Amino acid sequence: MKRILLVEDEASIREFVVINLIRSGYEVFEAQSGEDALRIYKEQKGQFDIALLDVMLPGIDGFTVCRELRKDNDKIGIIMLTAKSQEYDKVNGLLLGADDYITKPFGPSEFLARVDALYRRVSSSSANNEKNINKDELRSGDYVLNLRNRTLTFKGKLVELTYVEFLIMEYFFNNPGVALNRNDILVKVWGDAYFNEEKIVDVNVRRLRMKIEENPSSPKHIITVWGLGYKWEE
Ligand code: CA
Repeated sequence: MKRILLVEDEASIREFVVINLIRSGYEVFEAQSGEDALRIYKEQKGQFDIALLDVMLPGIDGFTVCRELRKDNDKIGIIMLTAKSQEYDKVNGLLLGADDYITKPFGPSEFLARVDALYRRVSSSSANNEKNINKDELRSGDYVLNLRNRTLTFKGKLVELTYVEFLIMEYFFNNPGVALNRNDILVKVWGDAYFNEEKIVDVNVRRLRMKIEENPSSPKHIITVWGLGYKWEE
């Protein structure tokens, strides 16, 4: 079963989202506040594929919920539901560990396309891990990317990655020293529906640099290629 945790305080939006998700075969756990969402998350022992988090909530906000979920769970897919005018919210959510955002108001087809795409990525990466027994490691210098466990280690020490960050690293490790176009990274990791939303790539690269670079503002591994994108250097 595909399980979703939803937090949204506006009843009309919540109902709209729930109806559409159930029609598409998701099991939905609804919360009206961030506190409720965290309680349900704990009650269900974190067994969710995706969390949909409204940002503006009466008590703790969606960012706080996002940070708490991500602290507990690297694998869950997180989508923020943001207001159109709040440009800052989009980037902030991604920096706190969200994988995507959907801008309100949204229609059912756009909404379901984003949720389905994220669900496919969450579930296919765990399926791949089971198949990939023979070639289960990619190495680059002191970094080892384990494709089966979906982990990155540096000098044997675990680096915590979300699965989106993992997919970006996998793309880098498969193309060492090659300048990769931002749109190619976007389509490779997020899929066709994200064409031209390159800011998502930049934010995730920023997050990755904070995790793997000794000095994130002067990166030695994930190098910016001006006017094009990024490349991985050992
Ligand atoms: Ca709200």
